[in-house]
Amino acid sequence: MVNGDNDPRTELAEIAIQIKEHLRYRQELGIDLIEAPRVVTMVPEVVVPEVVVSAPAALHQISPEIHTETPVGVESVEDIRRDLGDCRRCKLWHTRTNIVFGEGNPRAELMFVGEGPGADEDASGRPFVGRAGQLLTRMIEAIKLRREDVYIANVVKSRPPDNRAPEKDEVDACSPFLFRQIAAINPRVIVTLGNPATQALLQTKLGITRLRGAIQIYPRIPSIKVIPTYHPAYLLRSPDKKKETWEDLKKVQAFLNTPY
Ligand code: URA
Repeated sequence: MVNGDNDPRTELAEIAIQIKEHLRYRQELGIDLIEAPRVVTMVPEVVVPEVVVSAPAALHQISPEIHTETPVGVESVEDIRRDLGDCRRCKLWHTRTNIVFGEGNPRAELMFVGEGPGADEDASGRPFVGRAGQLLTRMIEAIKLRREDVYIANVVKSRPPDNRAPEKDEVDACSPFLFRQIAAINPRVIVTLGNPATQALLQTKLGITRLRGAIQIYPRIPSIKVIPTYHPAYLLRSPDKKKETWEDLKKVQAFLNTPY
C-alpha cells in the first residue's frame, strides 16, 4: 500500500506489479509465456494482465472474472469448520459417515484440492488416507515436503455414493466452504487434483488433460496460483501418466523456491 492509500485501484496496480515479477521468475525457470495480457473490469480504469503459462502440449487461456473481493485471513479454518457444523446443505449427508473437512498446516504455502472423500476417508473423517492418499503423500514427499507441511482439502466434504463424481448441486453447496478455507490459509500455490477440483477453482469446463501443468491465477484471490495435475486415483489406474505429474510437481517445487 502506498502512503496508507486504500484505493482499490492502487491495490490492483500493486497486484499487476506482483504478477509481472512472478512472470519474470517463471521465465527464469524456462516456462514459456503464451497468453497475455487481458483486461479485468472490476475497476475499469486499471488494467491487470492475466498470466497464463503453457502446459507441455496445451494451448489455452482461462478467462474467468477475477474477484478481488474475497477477504484473505479474516476467518480461521476452525471458524469455517464450526460454521459447516453437521452439514445438511446437500443430499450427500444422507449417505456419509463422517464429514471430511480437510487437514494440514493452516499456514501452508502449498494446498492440494481433491474431488471428494472415498470410502476410507468417509470412515476416518480425514482426506486422502486410502490408496490414492498414500500416493499423494509420496508425491508431497517427492518435492521434499511433509504431508503436515501442506493443507489437503476436497471440493465436497461428504462422500458421494459409490465414489461417483460430485454433482453440480453438491459442488455448489459445498465449494463456498472450500473457497473460505483457501482464503483463510492463503497459500502461494494450490495443486488441483483432477477435473472437479480444477473446474471448481478455475471456473472452467476445460478438462485436466488440457490444463495440467499450466500455472493459472486463482480468480478469487489473484495472488494465489493454481497448478492442475492428474488425480492420484487416476495415476493408480494409468501409471504411465506419473511422468507428466512429476513434471507438474517439479514446477510446483520450483515456484515455491522462488522468492515472494
Ligand atoms: N479422492 C479424493 O478426491 N479425495 C480424497 O480425500 C480421497 C480420494
